Amino acid sequence: MDRTTKKPPLSKEELQDLRGELMLADSLVRIENVLMVLSGKGGVGKSTVAVNLAAALAASDRNVGLLDIDIHGPSVPTLLKLDGAVSPGQSERGMLPIAYNEKLKVMSIEFVLKDQANEAVIWRGPMKHAMIRQFIAEVDWGDLDFLVVDAPPGTGDEPLSICQMAPPRSMAIIVTTPQQVALKDVRKSIRFCKALEMPIFGIIENMSGFICSHCGTQHQLFKSGGGEKLARETGFRFLGRIPIDPRLVDSSDEGKPFVLEHPMSPTSKAFDEIIGPILALSTPKMKKH
Ligand code: ADP
Repeated sequence: MDRTTKKPPLSKEELQDLRGELMLADSLVRIENVLMVLSGKGGVGKSTVAVNLAAALAASDRNVGLLDIDIHGPSVPTLLKLDGAVSPGQSERGMLPIAYNEKLKVMSIEFVLKDQANEAVIWRGPMKHAMIRQFIAEVDWGDLDFLVVDAPPGTGDEPLSICQMAPPRSMAIIVTTPQQVALKDVRKSIRFCKALEMPIFGIIENMSGFICSHCGTQHQLFKSGGGEKLARETGFRFLGRIPIDPRLVDSSDEGKPFVLEHPMSPTSKAFDEIIGPILALSTPKMKKH
């Protein structure tokens, strides 16, 4: 073989692709764990869980990013009272996420759309993929212990994109409610993750019982224990049950993470237990002086 034969130079498109790959790889090496919060269907509290998980992890001294990729109905900005917010600008590495507090950075499709309230986003799969890729590769997240991703319900293009580009230390957390329909839907999410070889870190049962704020007694409004049974059947870790707390709706409307507003409530305690094994995936870094 003639070793002196030169390869033809890369085309402009090939160079751009290569640059994109390098930027993605550069971002991903700085993110220790990607946690994709998934649910089989809407309304089970997936975004609420994603926001409170992220806030609880950040309150435990971890560097956390929260990425909202629900392109058709982003709810993270509302849940954190960041509606109308725009990225604070660009660094050398890329667009800066919004710092919710010292430990929690947030990025949502809403921050980059011009007319946030009225923009109807009609995007096809490849466009969504390109946007999600930009959210990871071209946002300057810095060093993160956790990137919590709020994916839209179901098994569509958005979670698929994350599965395809996330690093080996990425996994799904599946949120369900005790009712059977939600459980049937959640089986689809499990099959989806298995087909894409995305590890499932565990299952959370949300809206599991109701704790009376007067007497502290737990009432089962729906059948309880379905999430745990599902976890046993499928062999995945059961991360815990989150009870219904009517104040959670108020906190969400006010744009304040419930776990920070009512840290002593049974619902926040449930979050504390749930994050235990998640925290074990990373250790707090030494503070730089
Ligand atoms: P999803 O993202 O699955 O569509 P949301 O996070 O938007 O669901 O939650 C749906 C509604 O349920 C919201 O009004 C939210 O405040 C409420 N909710 C979620 N979890 C709880 C809970 N544990 N206790 C009380 N209300 C909850």
